[in-house]
Amino acid sequence: MSKGVCVVTGSSRGIGRACALLAAEYGYGVVVNYANDTEAAADVVTRINADGGQAVAVRGDVSAEVDVEHIFAAADRMGTLTGLINNAGVVSKSGRVEDYTVERLERIVAINVVGTILCAREAVRRMSTRRGGKGGSIVNISSVASTLGSPNEYVDYAATKGAVDSFTIGLAKEVAMEGIRVNAVRPGMVTTEIHEASGDPGRVERIRPTIPMQRIGDPEEIARAALWLLSEEASYCTGSFINASGGRF
Ligand code: NAP
Repeated sequence: MSKGVCVVTGSSRGIGRACALLAAEYGYGVVVNYANDTEAAADVVTRINADGGQAVAVRGDVSAEVDVEHIFAAADRMGTLTGLINNAGVVSKSGRVEDYTVERLERIVAINVVGTILCAREAVRRMSTRRGGKGGSIVNISSVASTLGSPNEYVDYAATKGAVDSFTIGLAKEVAMEGIRVNAVRPGMVTTEIHEASGDPGRVERIRPTIPMQRIGDPEEIARAALWLLSEEASYCTGSFINASGGRF
Protein backbone atom coordinates (compact mmCIF):
# COMPACT_ATOMS: atom_id res chain seq x y z
CA MET A 1 0.00 0.00 0.00
CA SER A 2 2.86 2.32 -0.89
CA LYS A 3 0.64 4.95 -2.48
CA GLY A 4 -1.78 5.49 0.43
CA VAL A 5 -5.51 4.88 0.30
CA CYS A 6 -7.88 5.48 -2.60
CA VAL A 7 -11.67 5.55 -2.29
CA VAL A 8 -13.43 4.35 -5.44
CA THR A 9 -17.16 5.01 -5.27
CA GLY A 10 -19.48 2.57 -7.03
CA SER A 11 -16.77 -0.02 -7.51
CA SER A 12 -18.67 -3.29 -7.14
CA ARG A 13 -19.26 -3.36 -10.91
CA GLY A 14 -18.38 -1.80 -14.23
CA ILE A 15 -15.95 1.10 -14.56
CA GLY A 16 -15.57 1.52 -10.80
CA ARG A 17 -14.61 -2.12 -10.40
CA ALA A 18 -11.94 -1.78 -13.11
CA CYS A 19 -10.65 1.38 -11.37
CA ALA A 20 -10.50 -0.40 -7.99
CA LEU A 21 -8.56 -3.35 -9.42
CA LEU A 22 -6.11 -1.08 -11.25
CA ALA A 23 -5.69 1.24 -8.23
CA ALA A 24 -4.69 -1.81 -6.17
CA GLU A 25 -2.24 -2.81 -8.90
CA TYR A 26 -0.76 0.71 -8.72
CA GLY A 27 -0.17 0.20 -4.98
CA TYR A 28 -3.14 1.96 -3.40
CA GLY A 29 -5.11 0.47 -0.54
CA VAL A 30 -8.65 0.57 -1.90
CA VAL A 31 -12.03 1.33 -0.35
CA VAL A 32 -14.51 -0.48 -2.56
CA ASN A 33 -17.75 1.45 -2.11
CA TYR A 34 -21.05 0.10 -3.44
CA ALA A 35 -24.79 0.63 -3.03
CA ASN A 36 -26.47 -2.80 -3.01
CA ASP A 37 -24.44 -5.60 -4.55
CA THR A 38 -22.58 -6.95 -1.50
CA GLU A 39 -21.50 -10.11 -3.29
CA ALA A 40 -19.96 -8.25 -6.23
CA ALA A 41 -18.11 -5.86 -3.91
CA ALA A 42 -16.80 -8.78 -1.86
CA ASP A 43 -15.53 -10.36 -5.08
CA VAL A 44 -13.53 -7.22 -5.92
CA VAL A 45 -12.01 -7.21 -2.42
CA THR A 46 -11.17 -10.92 -2.65
CA ARG A 47 -9.42 -10.41 -6.00
CA ILE A 48 -7.36 -7.51 -4.68
CA ASN A 49 -6.37 -9.35 -1.52
CA ALA A 50 -5.50 -12.51 -3.48
CA ASP A 51 -3.10 -10.44 -5.59
CA GLY A 52 -1.37 -9.16 -2.44
CA GLY A 53 -3.20 -5.82 -2.26
CA GLN A 54 -5.32 -4.32 0.47
CA ALA A 55 -9.01 -3.54 0.12
CA VAL A 56 -12.17 -3.20 2.12
CA ALA A 57 -15.79 -3.08 0.93
CA VAL A 58 -18.05 -0.38 2.33
CA ARG A 59 -21.73 -0.20 1.55
CA GLY A 60 -23.06 3.33 1.31
CA ASP A 61 -25.16 5.67 -0.80
CA VAL A 62 -22.98 8.56 -1.97
CA SER A 63 -25.98 10.88 -1.87
CA ALA A 64 -26.43 10.33 1.89
CA GLU A 65 -24.08 12.43 4.02
CA VAL A 66 -23.94 9.92 6.86
CA ASP A 67 -23.00 7.12 4.45
CA VAL A 68 -20.28 9.25 2.85
CA GLU A 69 -18.78 9.94 6.27
CA HIS A 70 -18.86 6.21 6.93
CA ILE A 71 -17.03 5.48 3.64
CA PHE A 72 -14.25 7.94 4.44
CA ALA A 73 -13.98 6.76 8.05
CA ALA A 74 -13.20 3.31 6.62
CA ALA A 75 -10.46 4.92 4.48
CA ASP A 76 -9.02 6.59 7.60
CA ARG A 77 -8.81 3.22 9.32
CA MET A 78 -6.73 1.88 6.40
CA GLY A 79 -4.21 4.73 6.26
CA THR A 80 -3.71 8.14 4.65
CA LEU A 81 -6.19 9.08 1.96
CA THR A 82 -4.33 10.12 -1.21
CA GLY A 83 -6.87 9.31 -3.93
CA LEU A 84 -10.56 9.53 -4.74
CA ILE A 85 -12.19 8.22 -7.88
CA ASN A 86 -15.67 9.70 -7.87
CA ASN A 87 -17.31 7.08 -10.06
CA ALA A 88 -20.75 6.19 -8.64
CA GLY A 89 -23.43 7.32 -11.04
CA VAL A 90 -26.81 6.32 -12.43
CA VAL A 91 -29.00 6.88 -15.48
CA SER A 92 -32.77 6.77 -15.70
CA LYS A 93 -35.10 5.33 -18.31
CA SER A 94 -34.57 6.70 -21.78
CA GLY A 95 -37.13 9.42 -22.51
CA ARG A 96 -37.92 13.03 -23.29
CA VAL A 97 -37.70 15.94 -20.87
CA GLU A 98 -41.46 16.60 -21.12
CA ASP A 99 -42.07 13.26 -19.36
CA TYR A 100 -39.61 13.60 -16.47
CA THR A 101 -40.96 13.34 -12.92
CA VAL A 102 -39.56 15.32 -10.03
CA GLU A 103 -38.66 12.02 -8.27
CA ARG A 104 -36.51 11.03 -11.25
CA LEU A 105 -34.76 14.40 -11.26
CA GLU A 106 -34.15 14.46 -7.51
CA ARG A 107 -32.62 10.98 -7.57
CA ILE A 108 -30.23 11.58 -10.45
CA VAL A 109 -29.07 14.96 -9.15
CA ALA A 110 -28.63 13.53 -5.63
CA ILE A 111 -26.43 10.63 -6.74
CA ASN A 112 -24.53 12.12 -9.70
CA VAL A 113 -24.03 15.67 -8.42
CA VAL A 114 -24.54 15.86 -4.66
CA GLY A 115 -22.80 12.51 -4.19
CA THR A 116 -19.79 13.60 -6.25
CA ILE A 117 -19.45 16.87 -4.36
CA LEU A 118 -19.93 15.31 -0.92
CA CYS A 119 -17.22 12.72 -1.58
CA ALA A 120 -14.87 15.41 -2.89
CA ARG A 121 -15.57 17.46 0.22
CA GLU A 122 -14.51 14.59 2.46
CA ALA A 123 -11.38 14.04 0.35
CA VAL A 124 -10.39 17.72 0.46
CA ARG A 125 -10.88 17.81 4.24
CA ARG A 126 -8.29 15.05 4.53
CA MET A 127 -5.88 15.91 1.69
CA SER A 128 -5.60 19.70 1.79
CA THR A 129 -2.23 20.97 3.00
CA ARG A 130 -4.16 24.02 4.27
CA ARG A 131 -5.82 21.64 6.75
CA GLY A 132 -2.64 19.74 7.65
CA GLY A 133 -3.06 17.05 4.96
CA LYS A 134 -0.38 15.74 2.63
CA GLY A 135 -2.15 16.44 -0.66
CA GLY A 136 -3.73 14.00 -3.08
CA SER A 137 -5.59 13.54 -6.31
CA ILE A 138 -9.27 13.38 -7.26
CA VAL A 139 -10.66 11.98 -10.51
CA ASN A 140 -14.32 12.49 -11.34
CA ILE A 141 -15.99 10.14 -13.80
CA SER A 142 -18.09 12.38 -16.00
CA SER A 143 -19.41 11.40 -19.45
CA VAL A 144 -19.24 12.62 -23.05
CA ALA A 145 -22.97 13.13 -22.48
CA SER A 146 -21.98 16.40 -20.79
CA THR A 147 -21.15 17.88 -24.20
CA LEU A 148 -23.42 15.74 -26.43
CA GLY A 149 -26.50 16.55 -24.32
CA SER A 150 -28.17 13.15 -24.96
CA PRO A 151 -31.40 14.44 -26.55
CA ASN A 152 -34.40 12.05 -26.51
CA GLU A 153 -32.50 9.75 -24.14
CA TYR A 154 -31.36 11.38 -20.92
CA VAL A 155 -30.87 15.11 -21.01
CA ASP A 156 -31.12 15.08 -17.20
CA TYR A 157 -28.18 12.66 -16.95
CA ALA A 158 -26.18 14.78 -19.40
CA ALA A 159 -26.92 17.85 -17.29
CA THR A 160 -25.66 16.14 -14.14
CA LYS A 161 -22.42 15.31 -15.95
CA GLY A 162 -22.20 18.94 -17.08
CA ALA A 163 -22.37 19.83 -13.40
CA VAL A 164 -19.58 17.32 -12.67
CA ASP A 165 -17.46 19.05 -15.34
CA SER A 166 -18.02 22.52 -13.86
CA PHE A 167 -17.33 21.18 -10.40
CA THR A 168 -14.07 19.63 -11.64
CA ILE A 169 -12.86 22.96 -13.04
CA GLY A 170 -13.90 24.97 -9.98
CA LEU A 171 -12.53 22.61 -7.36
CA ALA A 172 -9.30 22.16 -9.32
CA LYS A 173 -8.68 25.92 -9.18
CA GLU A 174 -9.81 26.18 -5.55
CA VAL A 175 -7.34 23.61 -4.21
CA ALA A 176 -4.50 23.96 -6.73
CA MET A 177 -2.23 25.47 -4.08
CA GLU A 178 -3.24 22.91 -1.45
CA GLY A 179 -1.51 19.86 -2.95
CA ILE A 180 -4.65 18.48 -4.61
CA ARG A 181 -5.18 17.90 -8.33
CA VAL A 182 -8.73 17.45 -9.62
CA ASN A 183 -9.39 16.01 -13.07
CA ALA A 184 -12.06 14.09 -14.92
CA VAL A 185 -12.54 11.31 -17.44
CA ARG A 186 -15.43 11.52 -19.86
CA PRO A 187 -16.19 7.96 -20.99
CA GLY A 188 -18.18 7.30 -24.11
CA MET A 189 -20.14 4.08 -24.55
CA VAL A 190 -18.63 1.41 -22.30
CA THR A 191 -19.69 -2.21 -21.76
CA THR A 192 -21.29 -2.22 -18.30
CA GLU A 193 -24.66 -2.97 -16.75
CA ILE A 194 -25.63 0.74 -16.58
CA HIS A 195 -27.30 0.49 -20.00
CA GLU A 196 -29.92 -1.96 -18.65
CA ALA A 197 -31.34 0.88 -16.54
CA SER A 198 -32.19 2.86 -19.67
CA GLY A 199 -34.89 0.32 -20.61
CA ASP A 200 -33.59 0.54 -24.21
CA PRO A 201 -31.65 -2.68 -24.86
CA GLY A 202 -30.94 -1.80 -28.52
CA ARG A 203 -29.25 1.48 -27.65
CA VAL A 204 -25.67 0.24 -27.51
CA GLU A 205 -25.84 -1.35 -30.98
CA ARG A 206 -27.67 1.68 -32.38
CA ILE A 207 -24.93 4.04 -31.22
CA ARG A 208 -21.98 1.88 -32.25
CA PRO A 209 -21.88 3.12 -35.92
CA THR A 210 -21.73 6.73 -34.69
CA ILE A 211 -18.48 6.07 -32.81
CA PRO A 212 -15.48 7.00 -35.01
CA MET A 213 -13.59 3.93 -33.74
CA GLN A 214 -16.77 1.85 -34.40
CA ARG A 215 -16.53 -0.06 -31.15
CA ILE A 216 -17.69 0.05 -27.53
CA GLY A 217 -15.08 0.67 -24.84
CA ASP A 218 -14.00 -1.71 -22.09
CA PRO A 219 -14.14 -0.60 -18.43
CA GLU A 220 -10.36 -1.20 -18.24
CA GLU A 221 -9.79 1.45 -20.92
CA ILE A 222 -11.55 4.02 -18.73
CA ALA A 223 -9.71 2.83 -15.63
CA ARG A 224 -6.34 3.34 -17.33
CA ALA A 225 -7.21 6.95 -18.15
CA ALA A 226 -8.49 7.54 -14.60
CA LEU A 227 -5.43 6.01 -12.96
CA TRP A 228 -3.12 8.06 -15.17
CA LEU A 229 -4.83 11.26 -14.07
CA LEU A 230 -4.80 10.06 -10.46
CA SER A 231 -1.08 9.33 -10.58
CA GLU A 232 1.97 11.58 -10.41
CA GLU A 233 2.44 10.92 -14.14
CA ALA A 234 -0.18 13.66 -14.51
CA SER A 235 1.58 16.02 -12.08
CA TYR A 236 0.94 19.19 -14.13
CA CYS A 237 -2.69 18.34 -14.93
CA THR A 238 -5.49 19.84 -12.93
CA GLY A 239 -8.94 20.81 -14.19
CA SER A 240 -8.20 18.55 -17.17
CA PHE A 241 -10.50 16.20 -19.05
CA ILE A 242 -9.81 13.02 -20.98
CA ASN A 243 -12.50 11.99 -23.49
CA ALA A 244 -12.16 8.19 -23.44
CA SER A 245 -14.82 7.60 -26.05
CA GLY A 246 -13.40 6.21 -29.29
CA GLY A 247 -13.60 9.68 -30.82
CA ARG A 248 -17.31 10.33 -30.10
CA PHE A 249 -17.73 13.56 -28.16
P1 NAP B 1 -22.69 0.38 -13.40
O1 NAP B 1 -22.09 -0.78 -14.13
O2 NAP B 1 -24.17 0.54 -13.37
O3 NAP B 1 -22.13 0.38 -11.91
C1 NAP B 1 -22.54 1.40 -11.04
C2 NAP B 1 -21.81 1.26 -9.73
O4 NAP B 1 -22.21 2.38 -8.91
C3 NAP B 1 -22.16 0.00 -8.98
O5 NAP B 1 -21.02 -0.39 -8.28
C4 NAP B 1 -23.25 0.49 -8.03
O6 NAP B 1 -23.31 -0.27 -6.81
C5 NAP B 1 -22.76 1.87 -7.71
N1 NAP B 1 -23.80 2.80 -7.25
C6 NAP B 1 -24.99 3.09 -7.83
N2 NAP B 1 -25.64 4.02 -7.11
C7 NAP B 1 -24.85 4.29 -6.04
C8 NAP B 1 -24.97 5.14 -4.93
N3 NAP B 1 -26.05 5.90 -4.76
N4 NAP B 1 -23.96 5.17 -4.02
C9 NAP B 1 -22.87 4.39 -4.17
N5 NAP B 1 -22.68 3.57 -5.22
C10 NAP B 1 -23.67 3.52 -6.14
O7 NAP B 1 -22.14 1.78 -13.98
P2 NAP B 1 -20.90 2.11 -14.95
O8 NAP B 1 -21.37 2.01 -16.33
O9 NAP B 1 -19.70 1.39 -14.51
O10 NAP B 1 -20.75 3.67 -14.66
C11 NAP B 1 -19.81 4.19 -13.75
C12 NAP B 1 -19.68 5.67 -14.00
O11 NAP B 1 -19.29 5.91 -15.34
C13 NAP B 1 -20.97 6.46 -13.79
O12 NAP B 1 -20.70 7.70 -13.18
C14 NAP B 1 -21.48 6.67 -15.19
O13 NAP B 1 -22.30 7.80 -15.31
C15 NAP B 1 -20.17 6.83 -15.95
N6 NAP B 1 -20.28 6.54 -17.37
C16 NAP B 1 -20.58 5.29 -17.83
C17 NAP B 1 -20.66 5.07 -19.20
C18 NAP B 1 -20.96 3.72 -19.77
O14 NAP B 1 -21.19 3.61 -21.00
N7 NAP B 1 -20.97 2.66 -19.00
C19 NAP B 1 -20.45 6.13 -20.08
C20 NAP B 1 -20.17 7.38 -19.59
C21 NAP B 1 -20.07 7.57 -18.23
P3 NAP B 1 -24.29 -1.57 -6.66
O15 NAP B 1 -23.99 -2.46 -7.81
O16 NAP B 1 -23.88 -2.20 -5.38
O17 NAP B 1 -25.66 -1.05 -6.62
